[in-house]
Amino acid sequence: MSLKDHSNRTIDYLRISVTDRCNLSCAYCKPRSQVKMTPHQEILRYEEMLRIVRIAVPLGISHIRITGGEPLVRRGVLGFIAKLREVEGIEDISLTTNGVLLGEMCQGLRDAGISRLNISLDSLKPERFREITGSDAWDLVWQGIARVEEAGFSPIKINMVPVKGVNDDEIADFARMTLDRRLHVRFIEFMPIGANDRWHTEACVTSDRVRDIIEREFGPLVPFMAKGSAGPSDNYQIPGGRGVIGFISPISKHFCASCRRLRLTADGRIRPCLLSDTEIDIKSPMRGGCSDEELERLLRFSLEIKPERHYVSENPAACSQRIMSRIGG
Ligand code: SAM
Repeated sequence: MSLKDHSNRTIDYLRISVTDRCNLSCAYCKPRSQVKMTPHQEILRYEEMLRIVRIAVPLGISHIRITGGEPLVRRGVLGFIAKLREVEGIEDISLTTNGVLLGEMCQGLRDAGISRLNISLDSLKPERFREITGSDAWDLVWQGIARVEEAGFSPIKINMVPVKGVNDDEIADFARMTLDRRLHVRFIEFMPIGANDRWHTEACVTSDRVRDIIEREFGPLVPFMAKGSAGPSDNYQIPGGRGVIGFISPISKHFCASCRRLRLTADGRIRPCLLSDTEIDIKSPMRGGCSDEELERLLRFSLEIKPERHYVSENPAACSQRIMSRIGG
């Protein structure tokens, strides 16, 4: 079975945000002035998420990413992942984390069946990390990355959002990590999310600019084709390097035409496009006792209203009023 939206895109990927809480407060993701948290009773229970997944998978969803907020801060997340693994038809479950709890949860994640990890890290300098995130946890993240490398997780993707004047002087240092480690270091263009007054066109360091900086340091990159990869990242390697360098360019070269995603927010909304606030409330009907058929209808409806593309270049301010930590990155 395959799920198609109105633009004939195959939708097989669901990102589930299990919480809007986070143990970091990255200035551009969860601005400290806007930390109003969703009350616990408004957050979906794991059984509710599982119900949605059990309806979505036979329709064509086969890939799931667990995200947040910070997914590892929600109690019981490992048990939830283990339950997801029992749902027949799910081919892949991956997790996005800021890495703070990776060290202590490494074995638990392994046992729950996670092997593919995305870890967000915006600075290799502890002091700068503190300025960006409001936390002294850089060492924990660094040790967590080493721990999952030793434990054989693969692939391990390090996601960095370069922001002009904040951390763009570290681009070459991030790329350097791929010389002798099998890490995938991915540079993600800064997006205008969450009525973000920090975002302006110049703050976003485009992928072309990032590539230019890397090539000036290491010479021409060579294309890298990952087996079975259909993600939005354009992948390369430094010749002779062990790892991979990826460019994710939602702003300069948007990949909306090949978008395969739906999002389920922690407060129970289906969000068809990261950069549009059009959402469908699935929690209220579910808590009102609706049938599985009705939930299926709502899931299908979300594909009818999935925007064909985002409109950042035309109207960045109108993209997303929800802050990223409340959407699920
Ligand atoms: N806590 C987890 C983590 O840190 O990976 C998952 C959620 S976090 C919202 C997911 C990713 O979204 C992070 O890599 C973060 O850098 C990215 N992100 C947040 N706001 C963004 C923005 N405005 N533009 C680009 N990426 C953003």
